[in-house]
Amino acid sequence: MERVVGLIGESGLPRRAVVAIVRREISAVRTEDAIPNLDSIVARVQLSIDELRRAKLQPVINGTGIIIHTNLGRAPLSAGAIDAMGAVGAAYNNLEYDLTRGARGARAGYVEHNLAVLCHAEAATVVNNCAAALILIVRHFTATKKEVVISRGELVQIGGGFRIPEILEASGAKLREVGTTNRTGLDDYAKALGPETAMILKVHRSNFFMGGFVEAPDTAALSKLARTKRILFVEDLGSGAVIETEEIAGIEHEPTPEEILQRGADLVCFSGDKLFGGPQAGIIAGKRRHVVALKRNPFFRALRCDKLILAALQATVDCHLSGQSFELPALALMRVTTDELRARGERLIAQIRDLPLRVTFGEAKAEIGGGTLPRSVISSITLDLVPEKYSLDEFASRLRRGSPAVIGYLAGQKFRLDLRTIFPRQDESLADALRAAAR
Ligand SMILES: *Cc1c(COP(=O)(O)O)cnc(C)c1O
Repeated sequence: MERVVGLIGESGLPRRAVVAIVRREISAVRTEDAIPNLDSIVARVQLSIDELRRAKLQPVINGTGIIIHTNLGRAPLSAGAIDAMGAVGAAYNNLEYDLTRGARGARAGYVEHNLAVLCHAEAATVVNNCAAALILIVRHFTATKKEVVISRGELVQIGGGFRIPEILEASGAKLREVGTTNRTGLDDYAKALGPETAMILKVHRSNFFMGGFVEAPDTAALSKLARTKRILFVEDLGSGAVIETEEIAGIEHEPTPEEILQRGADLVCFSGDKLFGGPQAGIIAGKRRHVVALKRNPFFRALRCDKLILAALQATVDCHLSGQSFELPALALMRVTTDELRARGERLIAQIRDLPLRVTFGEAKAEIGGGTLPRSVISSITLDLVPEKYSLDEFASRLRRGSPAVIGYLAGQKFRLDLRTIFPRQDESLADALRAAAR
């Protein structure tokens, strides 16, 4: 038993959390017919403790080459956003206090103002994520008239469990599907509009693309149609690029909120933690009277952001507004040249040359990821590793289980680490992690 008690002390986790695991494992042993020996009991407890430790939210080294990796936390935050969260979180703050008047004030007033400026919108606001923004918009504007007109080509699934048709129906709307999977014309929309139509919704196809015999009316044509019929036109942009993506890395153009609003959309919504490069948030921008109405909906209260998110978001918005978008890590990572990556790779290789590990350079295509820009790839450099002592699967597992955890991918009988998504400040600990895993 002392050995088990020893595990509790060494784990570095709260004692009560570990004791619960020990109890669970021991009661599992009690139900078994044959009593296992002490070593195997200790080993089982150790495995469970290790698994709990790995479940703890922690930084990892992302060697996948996917810049906005949904499973790995999407956009890493800028130093400015982290500082703002630390400062605001550690003290009292003016979250709902008007410092000019010395009275209760509006929450998120600053970030809403600056978001509106950034999006060239009359007004803007923010909720927990883009899914929440969409739910709020659909719930609010389908209170009397129920129908949301949407193209069959845009009834998409984004990531795990987020399906546009399900979201719309769960929000109380009646779906009015128009067109076909690959082709929807302006006429299809026009024919579907009737006395029950609340809005036309256009959803950006962010995580896949269609080529070939494809047609969809553009934003300008749809907003004109909506305006003549006096119904709302909303566009879900998803990724929220406010920079010119084609200038950053020679990737395809991603429509910006400014552009879409200028073409006549009444409202747009997008995520804060994709190409916007900030914390998880759902940003809504557009006509002032619609934004004001959404904020008055009782549902808004349940979807609003907390002070830490608002602090990180205002720092991110200000970064964009001051023309410093390159300080946002997600965008900075896209701009790194392959020469820089290769130079870092060479230094890394020199550090791990003595290990039982064959290392070569590889060329790869880094992806934007996060359900954005599915066609766009950025040339990148990988370290391609073949361990001498372990199979590739074992090696990958040892790296995942190390500290810090390193995530790469297997391809062409090699374990690959894409340097584009690894921060230079992580190179040292990456070398240590490779050393520990290869031995
Ligand atoms: C990613 C995405 C969403 C969901 O955004 P979250 O911020 O993850 O809730 C909604 N719509 C589109 C088009 C997206 O790409």
